Amino acid sequence: MPIPDLTFLHPPSLYDFRRRATLWGPISDVVPSTPIYDMYPIGFAALSEYLGRHGFETRIVNLAVRMLRSPRFDAEQAIARMRSRAFGIDLHWLPHAQGALEVARIVRERHPETPILFGGFSATYFHEELVRYPQVDYVLRGDSTEEPLRQLLACLRDGRAPDDVPNLTWKDRSGAVHVNPQTYTPENLDHLRPGFRRMVRMVLRQRDLVSCAPFGHWLDYPIMATLTVRGCTQHCAVCGGCAEGHERMSGRARPAFRSPEDLAADVREARRISRGPIFILGELRLAGMDYARRFLRAVRGVPGPFMLEFFWPVDREYAEALADSLPDFFVEFSPDSHDPQVRAALGKHYTNAGIEETVRNCLAVGCRRFDLFFMIGLPQQTAASALETVEYCEHLLQMVNGDRRLVPFTAPLAPFLDPASLAFEQPERFGYRLHCRTLEEHRRALLAPTWKHILSYETEWMDRDTLAATTYEAGRRLNRLKARYGIVSAARAAETEERIERATALMARIDHLLATRSPEEVEQEMLALKGEIDRANTSTVCDKEELDVRARGLPFNLPGLMEVGLGVLWDMVRGRP
Ligand code: SF4
Repeated sequence: MPIPDLTFLHPPSLYDFRRRATLWGPISDVVPSTPIYDMYPIGFAALSEYLGRHGFETRIVNLAVRMLRSPRFDAEQAIARMRSRAFGIDLHWLPHAQGALEVARIVRERHPETPILFGGFSATYFHEELVRYPQVDYVLRGDSTEEPLRQLLACLRDGRAPDDVPNLTWKDRSGAVHVNPQTYTPENLDHLRPGFRRMVRMVLRQRDLVSCAPFGHWLDYPIMATLTVRGCTQHCAVCGGCAEGHERMSGRARPAFRSPEDLAADVREARRISRGPIFILGELRLAGMDYARRFLRAVRGVPGPFMLEFFWPVDREYAEALADSLPDFFVEFSPDSHDPQVRAALGKHYTNAGIEETVRNCLAVGCRRFDLFFMIGLPQQTAASALETVEYCEHLLQMVNGDRRLVPFTAPLAPFLDPASLAFEQPERFGYRLHCRTLEEHRRALLAPTWKHILSYETEWMDRDTLAATTYEAGRRLNRLKARYGIVSAARAAETEERIERATALMARIDHLLATRSPEEVEQEMLALKGEIDRANTSTVCDKEELDVRARGLPFNLPGLMEVGLGVLWDMVRGRP
């Protein structure tokens, strides 16, 4: 097997989570990852495809998944055995701050001469601080690093200094830091192609399916994601991916869209591999109704479940158009609060009537499920307001006569406030008190014993204790509500209730330890509690499986997958990149 030009490594959020005890609580309850954030960014596939097309061989190793799936997997030995001309580590989501830097340290120790690259939103935001760690050589900045990365790999291959590579922060041999201009911000996503074939090729070449898995249980639940846009037009105060965040990090003045026809082609390609849900990431109406209509025309006839995001309410006409083209559609909608004042402070300027219309419209046209997300830790949100949200969920369920397709969720804004978000940049304006500002402060925070102590912020309205207590109480009330309406079974609700009680008791016990014992004693006691803590760490305030959209029958499209595999093998035999 040829030595890859670049090996992408996806770290766990905390290294080594298997030897430490952390009460993660509900921080990942409403995302597919476990609390160690084993899901790698969708950008890995896009970068691999682009580099492959330009003659560079890449490999993906999801270390987090390998560590999760096997207690015997020795990550340090595996890294020592790897051969690669460069290593690329993602620091997209800030919860990876500790794990990413620790994995880079191990790589540096085992491969002292091999360049180490970083990329992703958080790497971009903290680029100047990040590049000063001894284990980091290069940081690629911005939301579109395919071409800058190609240029950097060409420099490494030819032994040239990367003075001209756009969007690159780097250290030369003397350790001097260079910040190259941010000049590469494509206006559209026409340079991308779906990365699914490249992933199949990687699996065949490496003969290693687990390392390429996007997250731990993907092999049982092969959800596929396609990206409509990089950038956003909206201004949600706690989102680093808002319009202002993109401008700050990528110099992006307006979003870059995938063309609707290319997006439909991506969807068809994804459907050849998986019968599971295809998540269309990004709001189809962001580029205007014409864009949405063109996509819906182009995608009509593709079978199977689709998950669609709404950034604002949906009228009946649009709901009908969706149902017409994608009859098997699921909705993901995040009003975040039932309180219009909180929502407005957050930057979401629509009414409760708009939320209610959206729910009614989508259920009426036959959407398979409507997931409604609320959040705790928002500007102007009190504990009472967060709990009233559960009452509002009951109001909605009554409004739809208990239709069980409507599934509300509540989760904390945790563990960190997004860097580059409006609230991170102007915390006082939004009522936040930040405990962490720098990358190093976030890295250290991840070593704290519980999610409450990891939280990077408090608000004027809720301190850390109140945020945690309110999260558990809201979770408890919502769980009971779902059981009453038959959205979850009595048995599942009882399990969730028990997990909430266990997590609350553990939190109280750890608080007591912290108040009465030395740091060394706390660490020892935490390790003694590890089994109990680990059992309380997933599905705390809701069962993660509530989020899954299971395909009927086999999750993979075996004939399609075989066809893709044979095509890829034929390309490999003919030596095509
Ligand atoms: S949360 Fe708001 S700002 Fe962030 S991507 Fe969604 S709509 Fe855009």
